[in-house]
Amino acid sequence: MRNLYNEPCAFAGYPVDPADHIRNDQNHVAQLQKDPDTQVMIFVDSRPLMVLPDLSIFYLSVKEIELADHPCLFMGLRYDTGEAVFAVALDPQSAENILSDTVKAIDLRSIAYQLTAKAYAPELALLGKARSILDWHHRHGFCANCGAKTNLSKAGYARKCPACGTEHFPRTDPVVIMLVTHGDELLLGRSPHFPKGSYSALAGFMEPGETIEEACAREVFEESGIRVKNVQYLKSQPWPFPSSLMIGLTAEAENTDIQLEGSELEDARWFSRDQVIENIKQGGDDNLRIAGYNIAIARHLVEWWLRE
Ligand SMILES: [Zn+2]
Repeated sequence: MRNLYNEPCAFAGYPVDPADHIRNDQNHVAQLQKDPDTQVMIFVDSRPLMVLPDLSIFYLSVKEIELADHPCLFMGLRYDTGEAVFAVALDPQSAENILSDTVKAIDLRSIAYQLTAKAYAPELALLGKARSILDWHHRHGFCANCGAKTNLSKAGYARKCPACGTEHFPRTDPVVIMLVTHGDELLLGRSPHFPKGSYSALAGFMEPGETIEEACAREVFEESGIRVKNVQYLKSQPWPFPSSLMIGLTAEAENTDIQLEGSELEDARWFSRDQVIENIKQGGDDNLRIAGYNIAIARHLVEWWLRE
């Protein structure tokens, strides 16, 4: 079985040194926040500011923005120049005078589709991490333990409650996503919210108390009535909508009779290898489009299966 770990996919391959030793050193962080070489990414309503038409990340210098006034996250140091990168969330009013015909706030999914269509884009990992953590700050302003207002700490990697002392950390929600095979056939399904005709790998959130293998078996059975064995790990992908980790797996089916009763899926079917090859080659249409999203791990998993 081939290892997919080094094959790049959207939002993976963090391109700067996270330099996590700096996060606990407030003086060092404060010094970087005044350094004229520091670059600051801007987010408005979870959308990064990008420079058009080439769709590159827009950066401000620290002379142009007061970092202490906004939720601010230390992204790390550039490997080549050592320059620090921060990400800041602005409210729409504060961002108004930055926006222009060539600097716009753009939905990250749209950026990912456009950049990935050309080549692997390492900057998506930077944008994805910043989006996930800034979004977490936005939604976790109050202590889950006592209800008091919390403060950002550890250069943006935690929040601390001044009333009860509890520290809160950004969460990542693990999701299992699996290719279930039976001989030369592949089980794919569609959720009601998928675009017309789209089929993809079965997936679901893990629950507390489960192993990855158990979560895979439970989800596949719940959604399709298929029992699986031989669960194997293939590859993972950070998914910043808002903050998941997609755990890519394969599993072998023990039965083939699909049961959709009680399933969250609208449909699930077995597809032959030839059907999958033909559909992916043609790009699919509204009648049938298999793993049609170039930014999603499901596409990587299906391509792996076709090569095996
Ligand atoms: Zn508290």
